[in-house]
Amino acid sequence: MSRVIEHARREYPLESCGLLAGKNGKIIKVYSLENTEKSSSSYLMAPEEQLKVFREVEEAGLELSAIYHSHPHSPAFPSQRDVDYAFYPDSLILIISLMDPKAPQAGVFQIENGKIEQKGLKITV
Ligand SMILES: [Zn+2]
Repeated sequence: MSRVIEHARREYPLESCGLLAGKNGKIIKVYSLENTEKSSSSYLMAPEEQLKVFREVEEAGLELSAIYHSHPHSPAFPSQRDVDYAFYPDSLILIISLMDPKAPQAGVFQIENGKIEQKGLKITV
């Protein structure tokens, strides 16, 4: 989790975003991607970077486990936009909140057909 939080802090006050890959439910790789929107309230992963990561993950025999992004000024809960833009219902969504910069909060969710469900995720990297 530290690498994801580190990335969120580096991009602050903009949202950071990236992908988490692993095996058997365990996250072993963090891919930090560029937020092409350069916004503090939304993100869009660079499509060519995203494609490159998809390929790397497949070649390494891993699976795409989660998509992460940060909320610099709001809670670790999906925004309406996050719900509207949840294009990968099979992937978990990890949100890091930096509302309290000294105590980052994390939330893991699955969003399917506009329904938000809280999940758990073990991240050791
Ligand atoms: Zn969000």
